[in-house]
Amino acid sequence: VTETALIALIRRLAGRNRLATGRLDLGIGDDCAVWSPAPGRQVLVTTDQLIEGIHYIRRGTTGRQAGARLLGRGLSDIAAMGGDPRLVFLNLALPQADGWTTAFLRGFAAEARRFGVAWAGGDVSTVRGPAVASVTVLGEVPRGQALTRSGARPGDRIFVTGRLGAMPARITPRLGVGRALRNVATACIDLSDGLSTDLHHLCKESGVGAVIRAEAIPCAGTLDQALNRGEDYELLFTGARAPSRIAGVLATEIGVITKGHRVWLDGKPLRPSGWEHSF
Ligand SMILES: [Mg+2]
Repeated sequence: VTETALIALIRRLAGRNRLATGRLDLGIGDDCAVWSPAPGRQVLVTTDQLIEGIHYIRRGTTGRQAGARLLGRGLSDIAAMGGDPRLVFLNLALPQADGWTTAFLRGFAAEARRFGVAWAGGDVSTVRGPAVASVTVLGEVPRGQALTRSGARPGDRIFVTGRLGAMPARITPRLGVGRALRNVATACIDLSDGLSTDLHHLCKESGVGAVIRAEAIPCAGTLDQALNRGEDYELLFTGARAPSRIAGVLATEIGVITKGHRVWLDGKPLRPSGWEHSF
């Protein structure tokens, strides 16, 4: 497959993606995308990458699943900030392009359509080495209402959405929940590395500790999987209170934010044992 043919396919796939709201003035075919976010809104930007051999790009997944998954990870970050995703960019470095690659692109495009996100550009290159796919998602949020990791305060309750540890084949980014949590949650993070690790991330950014109860954690499998397996793409958030369902999704109270910096599970220190790259 030549670069020209690959780009022609991408243009065909991306051309079917239209922005649900807001205005995309120019997209693929120009040197830059030009976008006008709605007045009174701030822009959110997140990037994520898949690297063959480090992340499973091919092993055990179809091209369509992998394409959808890469975008789903970016969308989950937008959800964690309480934002609405708008534009997506895809960069690919490939040792070869084949049927798996075109399935990957189709899966990516279908997921963009599913969430009303415009595929607005990117870059393709050949590479001598493993395939790399990287995504950039732009979103928007009403000014001053972005959820962050740093707002948790002692006494806040800790909640998670969904059930943890299942590592679902298909990511359902919790965009509706994130939106509903604006002006409600004091802090929020999406669970990508695993509850044990991501709770530490949130506590560190907020300068607080936490106490959680094992029996309260909504486990899809074992407790260890719920704590450490990662790739849940549910939301972990803090606040005074939360209804048991938010935007149709189960929300469960699992503990409380405390002073200090330690994280406890049933009276024992909880070590961050989820996913972490080591160099
Ligand atoms: Mg994240």
